[in-house]
Parts: sequence; structure tokens; C-alpha cells
Amino acid sequence: MPKQKPVVIAGAGPVGLVAAAVLVDHNVPVLVLEAGPELSGEMRGSTFHAPTLDLLDTLGAAKAMIADGIVAPRMQYRSRDQGIIADFDFGVLADVTRHPFRLQCEQFKLTRILHGLLRDRPGFALRFGARVAACADRGDDVEITLEDGERIEGSYVIGADGARSVIRKSAGIEFEGFTWPERFLVLSTPFDFAEIIPDLADVSYYADPEEWFFLLRVPGVWRAMFPVPAEVADEATMTDDYARARYGRIVAGRDDYPIRHRTLYRVHQRVARTFRQGRILLAGDAAHINNPLGGMGLNGGVHDAFNLGARLAPVWHGEAPADLLDLYDRQRRGVTVEHVQRQTIANKQNLEAKDPEAQRAFRARMAETAADPAKAHAYLLGVSMINSLRRAAEIT
Ligand SMILES: Cc1cc2nc3c(=O)[nH]c(=O)nc-3n(C[C@H](O)[C@H](O)[C@H](O)COP(=O)(O)OP(=O)(O)OC[C@H]3O[C@@H](n4cnc5c(N)ncnc54)[C@H](O)[C@@H]3O)c2cc1C
Repeated sequence: MPKQKPVVIAGAGPVGLVAAAVLVDHNVPVLVLEAGPELSGEMRGSTFHAPTLDLLDTLGAAKAMIADGIVAPRMQYRSRDQGIIADFDFGVLADVTRHPFRLQCEQFKLTRILHGLLRDRPGFALRFGARVAACADRGDDVEITLEDGERIEGSYVIGADGARSVIRKSAGIEFEGFTWPERFLVLSTPFDFAEIIPDLADVSYYADPEEWFFLLRVPGVWRAMFPVPAEVADEATMTDDYARARYGRIVAGRDDYPIRHRTLYRVHQRVARTFRQGRILLAGDAAHINNPLGGMGLNGGVHDAFNLGARLAPVWHGEAPADLLDLYDRQRRGVTVEHVQRQTIANKQNLEAKDPEAQRAFRARMAETAADPAKAHAYLLGVSMINSLRRAAEIT
């Protein structure tokens, strides 16, 4: 068999670098092409679920993340009128995971940790300032064209180049789904809400028919996320008055928390029509995006990268037929549609339910679930994405 070319990975985000680490562990050489001049330091995803940590531990990355993050042992549903509706303890998952908690840790820490682990490994190469403009499947290999016209050959290409993926567009793969009319505003403050909200968990979702929101503690700040109605102009959301009005929803009579970061973003529910087209593979945000309620987008992307790496390695080594890559598509696309999309849409609809009966039923269901250890265990298997990983493994 002629010598195989490296696998080219577009994007050095968390998903691209996890895919790189898994492939290098399987002795598959990779070339990562990153458009930016360095690893992104953006404040974006910050939630890592239990099975994601179990997986990252196999790469030697989990301990450093835990040391750099906040271990959140509990999650709450709350309302402004009732206080705590339901309080869940991830500790009940200790029978199925080595990490029975949610880790709150900014995603840029994961990319830095992985880069540190990979940098000197044989078979790993990363080029910054290398923006992919197009890709072509030539049957026996792939050709990647950079923005400056340079051409690069690879055996396969993994599009881990984010929601606006050039790889996906270049391959003509549709990104099916919809965009929510409202945008989401994230306000981060060093103010410690636990000082004024009794018994506040580090991860707290507020159900509210007028305006839901959530509070998440990450190292150094609390992040509060609010929906912004379609009729409000982007610029209007960037003012201190607008922030104060949103902050005023959290605790009556207080609205003057200092703002460290402010991010407004559009939220979509979209899944690529396929995650595999010949030698072109998609993973992470390039393959699927969803609203952040439940912290499933980034985690799902990391799960893609592990699944894909484990399928692509034997194919690359000539030990398995290329059809094995279709299993990646069936498993990961399957659970993305069945589990992640469905769950994140339901999470949003439950928190925002305007119908008093629907809002009451949601609160009653959550209270009952949290109070019953067997129901709480079953519920947290879904919340922490253990179920979606198990379901993926069952798909043949
Ligand atoms: C404000 C915000 C908050 C979020 N909060 C959460 C959360 O709480 N929980 C959660 O699970 N998820 C969250 N997400 C989603 C999460 O950030 C993404 O799911 C995650 O970043 C996906 O990782 P990725 O590696 O697939 O893509 P990205 O992180 O987008 O990485 C893509 C990489 O590819 C590079 N790139 C792009 N185009 C090219 C090109 N043409 N050539 C070469 N390189 C290219 C980019 O520079 C980047 O480094 C949030 C997203 C946003 C925007």
C-alpha cells in the first residue's frame, strides 16, 4: 500500500485539537490548519460534562482542566417567585463515571492544554495563519486550498472549522435547521451571586414565563445569560442601561453589578445533512449547532472527535474498510438529531413556557424528579450526556 498522507484538520478549536490528539495517539499523522494567528482566547463554552471528562482523561487532559476550573457538584432549576424548584446532585452518577460533576472551565483552557500535550509529539503539525478556502475530494486523497492559493494534500480532511465551516460549504453539504428569532446576551460579572442568593448552585437555570435566564459560575466570574427579543437592536443591548434592566431580573432591587464581558449572539439549531462525504468529514460546530441550554454543543463536538478518531485510525492504517466512516455519521449524526437537538430545544421551551399550566407542569415534574433518587439518577444520565454516548454506541 502506498504511504498514506496525513489527515488534514481545519481548525484548532477544541474539537479539532481533540481529533488531532486521538489520531496522534493512534499513530496517524495530522496537519492542523488554523486561520487565527494563535489559539483563540474567546470566552465561549465553559461546561464539561462527566463523560466528556472521562474521555479527556484518556488524553491526559482532564486533571489540568479540573485544576483550572470549578467543580460544580449541583445543578438547580429555580424561579424568581419560588426560589429553588429542583436541586440535583451529580454525585449520584458516581456509579457510572469517574467525574460525577459538571466542570465549569473555559474552552480556551482545553485547547491550550491539548496544544501543550501535542506540540512535541511526532506526527503532530499545526500551522497558524493558515485559512482554508476550499477542499476537494479527489478519490484517492484530498486537496485543501488556502486563502493565499497554497495547495495542501491529505488523505482525509476533518472540517472542525466551526459553525461557518468552509469545509462544509466547499463540499456543498447543507446545514439544515432553523435560527431562533431572539439572540442571547451573556453578561459576566466578578460579583459573587452566591453572597446574596441563599444556597445558589454553581449552575442555576431560572424558569420564567416573562424572561428566563441562567447563572453559571466560571473561574473569576458569574455568567448570566438572557434572551433578547428580535425587535431590540444589537447596539441597544450593549448599553449599561440594558444590562442593568437584565440584571434587575436576578434579584429585585439590585442591578449594578460590574460587567467584565458582554457577548450577544445569534442562536441556531442546525445539523449538517451528512457528517461524511467520501474523504471529507465534519465534526463539532461545523457539523451541528444548538442553543447553549444544557451545555451540549461543545461536549457533543468532543464526543464526535473521539468517535471519529477511533473510526478513522483503522481506516487510515488500512485495517478497516472506509465504510467504517459511515458508522461515524450514523452514530454521531443520529444522536445529534435524536438527543442533542431535541433536548436543547426542550430545555429552552421548558424555561420560557408562557402558558401557566405548562410552566406549572415543568416545575412540578422537576421537583418530583429531584426528590426521587431513581428518577434523579435517570434524569442526570440524560443531562450529562451519558445517555447520548450510550445510544450512539448502540447504533450499528
Ligand atoms: C458566546 C458563546 C457561548 C457558548 N457557550 C457554550 C456553553 O456554555 N456550552 C457549550 O457546550 N457550548 C457553548 N458554545 C458553543 C461552543 O463554543 C462551541 O460548540 C465550540 O466552540 C465548538 O468547538 P469547535 O472546535 O467545533 O469550533 P470552534 O471553537 O468555533 O473552533 C473552530 C476553529 O476553526 C478556526 N477556523 C474557522 N474557519 C477556518 C478556516 N477557514 N480555516 C482554518 N481555520 C478556521 C477558528 O479560528 C477556530 O479556531 C458557545 C458559543 C458561543 C459563541
